[in-house]
Amino acid sequence: MKPLLINNLDFAKNQDEISQEIDVKNCERMLDLLDVGQQSPKIIRYTLMGVASQFHLPSLALHVEATLPVLCQRCLQTMELDFSLDYAYVIAETEPESFEGDEEVDWLEMSREMNVDELVEDELLIAMPLGPLHEHACKPLVKEDVEKPNPFAVLRDFIK
Ligand SMILES: [Zn+2]
Repeated sequence: MKPLLINNLDFAKNQDEISQEIDVKNCERMLDLLDVGQQSPKIIRYTLMGVASQFHLPSLALHVEATLPVLCQRCLQTMELDFSLDYAYVIAETEPESFEGDEEVDWLEMSREMNVDELVEDELLIAMPLGPLHEHACKPLVKEDVEKPNPFAVLRDFIK
């Protein structure tokens, strides 16, 4: 599947809208954090909308939906995490000063070939919890105590 490239400024100004799906198998950076295995394909769905006048600048609204398999860090069983994320971006050549420190709005550099799939993957990577745990109290995986052979016992066998 070809990555989706857009001219992000035109997209915002024209108030374009797209809805796309990405197969998680194409998100190489994210695969390291997931436990995809042989399960049915995992799909990320997103909608990108151009908003011409929000924040007095051409901007984009992004909505991402995904259910992704991760390993619970307590019991090491696969669990599914639901993501439903919303983002707003202004498009400008340089970071607008007035947006510094604004948590709700991000800035995206003007680009004729912005890779939308990559943006979606970036946002999911940031949203991914570092140590996901089941909400219910799952059983921690206890390592079995393996007794190490006593080196002296080995030595004794040699001497015999
Ligand atoms: Zn667990």
